[in-house]
Amino acid sequence: MSGLPPTNRTQQGSELALQSDNELMLQVCDHCNTVLYPPRELCSRCLEENLSWRPVNARGTLLAHVELARSFEDWFSERTPWLLVTVRLQEGVSLICHAHASITRVQTSDSSKPVSVHVSICKDAGGSGVLVAMPESAAGEKFASLEAALGWPVAEDFGGRAV
Ligand SMILES: [Zn+2]
Repeated sequence: MSGLPPTNRTQQGSELALQSDNELMLQVCDHCNTVLYPPRELCSRCLEENLSWRPVNARGTLLAHVELARSFEDWFSERTPWLLVTVRLQEGVSLICHAHASITRVQTSDSSKPVSVHVSICKDAGGSGVLVAMPESAAGEKFASLEAALGWPVAEDFGGRAV
């Protein structure tokens, strides 16, 4: 298996890792208070340059899901199928997140029952900040890594990285 997930990020995307203390922090426009995702250089609403990382309400609803079956990145390809979800936060912004181990494909497929989730930030094995959607019942749980949030075994022989 490949050692680490891909680490290519924009400068703003890299800043997500600095916010990864399990509390959801996103960029917010200092002028119009629009919550922004993905991280960017300018506000998408008013083009303001001054954006601050601030804590935001992490509650939202699952909108959609996709099961990754293939990837050009070996690290993901070796771990498929991989469940990704789109979450609409109460703040009004939509996020693409990894799905916590307890979010099942059945939950994401039944659109008649809205699924409430909580989103948090943790680091993947490469040290990049990533978003994880988890059930409301798991809100407040702290995860040392993305791999732990996904319920994977973590081998200490590999520096705490999932194998
Ligand atoms: Zn703005």
